[in-house]
Amino acid sequence: MRETIHTSVPEAIALERRYVLQTYRRPDFVLVRGEGVRLFDEKGRAYLDAVAGIAVNALGYGDPEIVATLRTAAEGLIHVSNLYHTEPQARLAQALVECSFADRVFFCNSGTEAVEAALKFARKYARERYGAHKTQFVAFTNSFHGRTMGALSTTATEKYRIPFEPLVPGVHFVPFNNLRATEEAITDHVCAVLVEPIQGEGGVHLATAEFLQGLRALCNERGALLIFDEIQCGLGRSGTLWAHESSGVTPDLMTLAKPLAGGLPMGAVLMTQAVADVIAPGDHGSTFAAGPLICQVAQVVLRRINSRPFLAEVQAKGEYLGTHLNQHVRPHRLVRDVRGRGLIWGIECNTEALTVVNAAYRHGLLVCAAGTHVVRLLPPLIITRAEIDEMVDKLVATLEDVAQEMVA
Ligand SMILES: *Cc1c(COP(=O)(O)O)cnc(C)c1O
Repeated sequence: MRETIHTSVPEAIALERRYVLQTYRRPDFVLVRGEGVRLFDEKGRAYLDAVAGIAVNALGYGDPEIVATLRTAAEGLIHVSNLYHTEPQARLAQALVECSFADRVFFCNSGTEAVEAALKFARKYARERYGAHKTQFVAFTNSFHGRTMGALSTTATEKYRIPFEPLVPGVHFVPFNNLRATEEAITDHVCAVLVEPIQGEGGVHLATAEFLQGLRALCNERGALLIFDEIQCGLGRSGTLWAHESSGVTPDLMTLAKPLAGGLPMGAVLMTQAVADVIAPGDHGSTFAAGPLICQVAQVVLRRINSRPFLAEVQAKGEYLGTHLNQHVRPHRLVRDVRGRGLIWGIECNTEALTVVNAAYRHGLLVCAAGTHVVRLLPPLIITRAEIDEMVDKLVATLEDVAQEMVA
C-alpha cells in the first residue's frame, strides 16, 4: 500500500523517506545547485556552506577547471579496472609521492577503505618482519576511522560500534594526547598505532606536536608502524598540505580521501618503501579505484591545493577565522570552547550540537556536528574573508536564537 505523498513536502523528500534506508536525519530542503561557497535549495534559498560535503569540496562548487577536466576526461576513458596500465593513475601517484614522506601509493574509493587497507598492510608488515603474534592496534579516544568492520574496530564511538560487535579483536583505545598511557599500550603484540593529527568527527581535537613526536619515538622503539589518518585534516585543510607537518615527524602510512578527487569518491594510502616491500600482487585490490577520469580530476585538486600561495591563504584565513571566533563566538554563554587550525574549527557548546546545526539552517548557514556537543566548521578552502565574516555573523545569530528558545 502506498501512502499518499504529502503535497507540502517536496517530492524528493517524500521519496527519500519512503525508499531510502533511513541512516541519516536530513533537514527538510532539497539542494539543487552550488556556486563557490554557496548552495541553493529548490526554492532558491541560499546557504553559506561551512560543511563542504564534509571536508570534501575544498575548491567549492562549480570550479571551472574541475568542470572542464571532468568534461574532457569523460570523452576519454572513464574506467578500465586495475588489470591494466593507465597514465592518469601513474601521474597522480607520482604527484602524491613527490609532495609527501611516501614512496608508494595504494588507491581505493573512500576513507574507510583507505583505513582498511592501511590496517591490512600493517598486519602483513608485522607478520613478515616479526611473526604472526604481532596483530594488535592502538587507537585513541574520540577517534573516527570509518564504518567498515576493520575501520570501525579502530573507531572509538561506542554508539557506532556496539550494534555490530564482535569487531576485529585486539584494538586498544588510549586517551588522546596521553603519551604515558600510549607507552603502556604499545606492547610487543601491537603492529600499528593509528591517529588523526587533528581529530575531526570526534570533536575537533588537535594532537600536540609532542604527542606525535612521542608516538613516532615509541613506534620506532617497539617496531610498530605509525599510521596518520589525514582523511579529514589533510590536503590543505589545516593550513599546511599535511596536518602532521608542524610536528616535524612523518608516519609510515597515511590515509587520504575526502577532498582528494574534488567530490568524486577516492581514497589513498601513502606509505614508505619499507611497508611497500612486504606487499605483493594479489594482496589487496579494488575494481573501481583510480580510474582515468577520477585521477585526472584528483591531479587538478592536488596541484591547486599544493601551491604555496594557496596554502598561505588557507593559513592566513584560518588565523582570521580563529580570531573572529574567539572574539564573537567564544564569549557566548552557550559556548564552552573554541578550537581548531586552518579551516577546521570546533565550537564546543553546552547544548546539543544538532540543536545549533538545525537552527543554523534558518539563518542560511550549513554547519555540522562533531560528536554530541561540538559544532564543526569545514568551509571550502576557497572561502574569502568577507564570507568568513558572514559565516561568523550567521553563527552568532544562530547561537542567539538557540539561547532564546531555551529561555522560552
Ligand atoms: C570521514 C573519515 C573517515 C571515513 O571516510 P569515508 O569516506 O566516510 O569512508 C575516516 N577517517 C577520518 C579521519 C574521516 O574524517
